[in-house]
Amino acid sequence: MNILVINAGSSSLKYQLLNPETGDLLAKGLCERIGIDGKFTYKPQVDGKEKLDAVDVAMPTHSEAIQTVLDALVDPKNGVIGSMKEIDAVGHRVVHGGEAFNQSVLITDEVMQALEDCIPLAPLHNPANITGIKACQACMPGVPMVGVFDTAFHQTMPAKAYMYALPYEYYENDKVRRYGFHGTSHKYVAARAAAMLGKKPEELKLISCHLGNGSSVTAVDGGKSVDTSMGFTPLAGLPMGTRSGDLDAGILQYVMNKYNMSIDEMLNVLNKKSGVQGVSGVSSDFRDLENAHKEGNERAGLAVDMFNYGVKKLIGAYAAAMGGVDAIIFTAGVGENSVSQRLDIASGLEFMGVKMDAEANNVRGKEAVISAADSTVKVLLIPTNEELMIAMDTAAIVKG
Ligand code: AMP
Repeated sequence: MNILVINAGSSSLKYQLLNPETGDLLAKGLCERIGIDGKFTYKPQVDGKEKLDAVDVAMPTHSEAIQTVLDALVDPKNGVIGSMKEIDAVGHRVVHGGEAFNQSVLITDEVMQALEDCIPLAPLHNPANITGIKACQACMPGVPMVGVFDTAFHQTMPAKAYMYALPYEYYENDKVRRYGFHGTSHKYVAARAAAMLGKKPEELKLISCHLGNGSSVTAVDGGKSVDTSMGFTPLAGLPMGTRSGDLDAGILQYVMNKYNMSIDEMLNVLNKKSGVQGVSGVSSDFRDLENAHKEGNERAGLAVDMFNYGVKKLIGAYAAAMGGVDAIIFTAGVGENSVSQRLDIASGLEFMGVKMDAEANNVRGKEAVISAADSTVKVLLIPTNEELMIAMDTAAIVKG
């Protein structure tokens, strides 16, 4: 069975063709500058097939982009499948499913309407996701499409975790609540953690740390998300590459009055000029910060310290929320690669049974137990694979 996984942005579209049963990746790539001049990248994962790297292809809309992807996949010379019949279904990443979707879903006309209804909650992302779905439907009539939501995994949170202490009508009338994001990643690594530990998900209390350019930490109790650090939008929680994370809302009034800023200008600062970039003045990239700190830049060191401290506090909070923790998971760019940040985050947690093994932790990008043999809380490195999770969900739904 082959599943085409699509992640559509407003002017870009990432794709992967994979077999969810074996986990084999057949091809992946990217369409960029859709609606502008169009650049196409194709990376077949089969021996003897040639890749294309940002070649010019006219893509006035997402439909031409999808058609370009399909043509490449079935190309007689460099394609990886014989015909379109070998694509069994398409899994679409959708950012926001609101309260309407607590799991992945077969896309129908009704579902499309519900996705439209979620646009106010994710005005930048959901319209692009919907455009991607419509383009696929036009190019691949009759092929089942499935929507997989970043928010769905977190719909199991109890009200005490997802409510904001605002007048209740903002929730009732306007759906203002914590939704949480990165759900597909947290779901995938939590399932892998259970497999690595030889336990059922229902038996485990996990804390999943998805640490990348965007970061979130999730408490997973018995296989279900019970709390997560992102909120109504992906701006909340930890400081990130350029996002501020949580802050005192009173700061907005103070800064906006002082500098005569509009709310849009303020949000632009919070989303694009804050986080470790804002604190360091150096970069949003954690590798740059590590290098700058080694060369004596103290603000780069401070930015990383603030980030690591934020993760450590969330681990403590979620262990308290769940009444314990069996394993802590590190994933995404920083979590999978930064030996020093993992050590720093876990240091000082010995009181709650976390003991790292420095040698075992000296590893990048592959599944590993990185805690000491006598650590009561296991610490796991698990590379995330959102595309495989989307393909697995899609296959499960199509098979019924
Ligand atoms: P992601 O958003 O998951 O792609 O993660 C991107 C972040 O991971 C960037 O800030 C990178 O600097 C960071 N990252 C990637 N490799 C390393 C590394 N070897 N050490 C520290 N951070 C890394």
